[in-house]
Amino acid sequence: MKEQLCQAVIDYAHLMTEKGLIAGTWGNISVRIPNTDTIAITPSGRDYMTLVPNDIAIVDMNGEWIGGNYKPSSELPLHLAVYRARQDVGALIHTHSIYASACAAARRSIPAIIEDVAMMNGGDIEVAEYAANGSAELADNTVRALGEHQSVLLANHGMLGCGSNLKEAMTMCELVEKTARIFIAAQSLGGAVELDRDDVARMRNQYLQHYRQV
Ligand SMILES: [Zn+2]
Repeated sequence: MKEQLCQAVIDYAHLMTEKGLIAGTWGNISVRIPNTDTIAITPSGRDYMTLVPNDIAIVDMNGEWIGGNYKPSSELPLHLAVYRARQDVGALIHTHSIYASACAAARRSIPAIIEDVAMMNGGDIEVAEYAANGSAELADNTVRALGEHQSVLLANHGMLGCGSNLKEAMTMCELVEKTARIFIAAQSLGGAVELDRDDVARMRNQYLQHYRQV
């Protein structure tokens, strides 16, 4: 199980690069290892293309590095804080994708203007207050802004997508990037019209009941 999950982390790190969501090793991925109170997370500053399963860091919920050849990503506190706060989250992907980062740099939350993101995120994509990368403060700010949603922007930094598994987390990251592009384009057409809150809530329920794969 552990080795399979470490391989999946590597596969998704490759996918994240192929999809153009990150440049170099800026971005990180983690997954909860079921029934162990540990997570597997990409190592700090390693080339994702050369990683093997034993290179993926294994860390317990207190942040203790207990396995893997290389030390965990510097954004470990952010990942752990979300796992502690949200038992429904099984995987996290943090990217610096361009349009999401543009909204994060402008510190503009992305409204739930398209039905797919309304379903998957359950509301606006909020911006976590700025704090230094890798800091405990950034972890706290992120958990607060994330709330019960599945994605959040990090001011002047990037975004974080959550899922019950890696596939869902990746879809969330792609959807945030797509919605950020649509939002920015809609601004030049006079501004996006926001969906009604009740409609967003209805679509979110629909997603949780019928579409979400746990
Ligand atoms: Zn980052």
